[in-house]
Amino acid sequence: MRVGIIGAGISGLATAWELAKRGHEVHVYQREQGIGGLIATFDFEGVEIEHFYHFLCGGDTDYFRLAQELGLGDRINFKPAKTGFYYQGTRYPFSTPLDLLRFKAIPFSQRIRFGLFALEARWRKEWTQLDEITAKPWLIDRLGKQAYDVIWDPLLALKFGDHYDKISAAWVWHRLYRVAQSKGKMGFLEGGTRLFLDTLAEKLQAQGVQVHEASPVERILTQGRQVTGLQVQGQGEVPFDRVVSTVPMEVLAGLLPDDDYAASLRRIQYIGVVCVMFKLKQAVSPYFWLNVHDDRVPFNGVIEYTNLNPISTDAGHIVYVPYYVATDHPIYQMDDETVLEQSWCALKTIAPHITDDDKLAFHVARTPYAQAICETGFLNILPQHQSPIMGLRLLDSIFLYPEDRTQSGHIDKARYCAEHIED
Ligand SMILES: Cc1cc2nc3c(=O)[nH]c(=O)nc-3n(C[C@H](O)[C@H](O)[C@H](O)COP(=O)(O)OP(=O)(O)OC[C@H]3O[C@@H](n4cnc5c(N)ncnc54)[C@H](O)[C@@H]3O)c2cc1C
Repeated sequence: MRVGIIGAGISGLATAWELAKRGHEVHVYQREQGIGGLIATFDFEGVEIEHFYHFLCGGDTDYFRLAQELGLGDRINFKPAKTGFYYQGTRYPFSTPLDLLRFKAIPFSQRIRFGLFALEARWRKEWTQLDEITAKPWLIDRLGKQAYDVIWDPLLALKFGDHYDKISAAWVWHRLYRVAQSKGKMGFLEGGTRLFLDTLAEKLQAQGVQVHEASPVERILTQGRQVTGLQVQGQGEVPFDRVVSTVPMEVLAGLLPDDDYAASLRRIQYIGVVCVMFKLKQAVSPYFWLNVHDDRVPFNGVIEYTNLNPISTDAGHIVYVPYYVATDHPIYQMDDETVLEQSWCALKTIAPHITDDDKLAFHVARTPYAQAICETGFLNILPQHQSPIMGLRLLDSIFLYPEDRTQSGHIDKARYCAEHIED
């Protein structure tokens, strides 16, 4: 079959790989020059690294499988990843059960409840009833008000900005479940995502897959309720038997006729992210992940990537500061210089040993579609992977719900999509 794929992020590339292995003729169309989408990398003053932080968890089996197929399996490295908590001017370790017992920011009884709750999440299997419950009251009920206010409130705000109090308990549960499965270790690919993408691109080319960069799809062509091809900028109308879309629902809706189906896709909302990166002479903290809850600091977390993967001795210390905000939020609208200045001042507040002299390089990246907003009742608005337009299949992180978006989850869905392409 001739299959056209919209988007050359991990979903599009993994789907192309699975389809090509099954003997299909595959064309991938990527809006911009360069592949990778959210995992794309750039040259950060001599270090090739992603615009947005990425790590692997123990349960990311589909990522491991693909890495194995690409001959990169032995480059996956797992290490203990320390977590810290910066609460109103004091930094606490927050990795082990003992750290939790010593976390004085909440009453002792709530520390115990927090630990038991994390254990329960690890063993829980049934989650659909959690889709109907809002995380905030659920967490307050299970953990206590102070534990919620100190620990979970900033974590939800970190991920969902102003929507933090509408998120479903199912999403929160799976987040705990995924991290618990990793048993305190996080992983990365030695050689980085650039190596992963280059190897995948090379293998795709060898299989005859054509990846068209700087070739945005302008329209999905249909006849009645059957897909017939794609209209691609610079190439005109290209016929296909099947089309796989890997773009966010709002973008997909814009490629389809403006009918009820497109309207239903637009009900899925996303939050954007502004990700500020610093390359420093010295470390901010010993932690890979530092949760931040401090009234003076406008962000809720610092991800110090080089505390997980040192990359190389001359890579410096690479730190990501994410702001998850809607695209109309003042932070998303801010120019790079202002957002950089604001984050730099706040970073020096939580790490007073850092001085202006430590700043080697900086970078700001933005995306309007960082994360779908998984509010209560999300299951009711989820579209089907197989769209009502025959021959059009949809891939997006929403299909991983209640799982958080992960590369591994996308690779799994890509395989499923390829297996069922002829249905
Ligand atoms: C801040 C952040 C941190 C993350 N951390 C992790 C992590 O630690 N671990 C993990 O596993 N995952 C993580 N993720 C998630 C992971 O990056 C994504 O889930 C995954 O990369 C999404 O891949 P995708 O191919 O589905 O979508 P995308 O990467 O968004 O790819 C879609 C592509 O389609 C292209 N496109 C859009 N419109 C058109 C058009 N009209 N025509 C042609 N092409 C088009 C886009 O340009 C894009 O390249 C993180 C994501 C973010 C934002």
